[in-house]
Amino acid sequence: MRLKDRVAIVTGSTRGIGEAIARAFAHEGARVVIVGRDQVRAARVAEDIANHGGRAVAITADVSRLEDAQHLVKQTLETWGKVDILVNNAGITRDNLLLRMTEAEWDEVLAVNLKGAFNCTKSVVRPMMKQRQGRIINITSVVGQMGNAGQANYAASKAGLIGFTRSVARELASRHITCNAIAPGYIETDMTATLEAGVREALQKQIPLNRLGCVDDVAGVAVFLASDAAAYITGQVINVDGGMVMA
Ligand code: NAD
Repeated sequence: MRLKDRVAIVTGSTRGIGEAIARAFAHEGARVVIVGRDQVRAARVAEDIANHGGRAVAITADVSRLEDAQHLVKQTLETWGKVDILVNNAGITRDNLLLRMTEAEWDEVLAVNLKGAFNCTKSVVRPMMKQRQGRIINITSVVGQMGNAGQANYAASKAGLIGFTRSVARELASRHITCNAIAPGYIETDMTATLEAGVREALQKQIPLNRLGCVDDVAGVAVFLASDAAAYITGQVINVDGGMVMA
């Protein structure tokens, strides 16, 4: 029980990596807030966690809207009285070559992936400062480090998230609030399910551990960063990528 009685908000936790992180947190004793735009999906995950003996509530929010993020934190405080952990995981892709990329594709990705993290972090900072402790974990990507053709918007949002992580880490360290990022490589989720077989094979060749990752590979690191064992780690980017990026 490494997170016993902690309260954790995990954005984009109705499926994929976010869902795995929420389940892993609940397994370690945390009370989790399942966040997504779809109330039915969010409620289903929360219910299933409760059926397995965990504690979870579902709150609907579009993280790209500041008022939704503020409402999310307010509701969490009303339900459980505190917020110990925030995981900014909600993310989208709208891939296109730069020549064809529309302004809307650029704006949407930046609004969810980067502004979403700003909105949620800003909303959670005051209660965390009052508590004089907190953990913020941002889910970035190896694409933010390496770049990727067809993902200028996504790569920019994920690289931005790394700068955001380091700035927040410096700003809040004196209040015992840590802020770190996890950079997954290619993880088997809905987001990567659409990869063609050839692309998948080519990708695998670039991964020293010779497989795509699974959601629990990422969730395990999130539990560690949220736990007491990571108290002296802040401003870091931890790659969970099978060795794809070695800096
Ligand atoms: P996914 O598409 O399976 O899940 C994304 C989640 O975010 C869903 O629950 C969705 O409902 C939610 N979401 C999307 N927009 C939202 C919004 N505006 N407000 C609230 N919730 C919203 O994706 P995933 O593969 O699980 O990825 C999760 C995170 O990990 C993303 O930030 C993604 O960029 C990052 N990531 C994924 C991979 C990968 O290989 N899958 C690799 C690197 C980084």
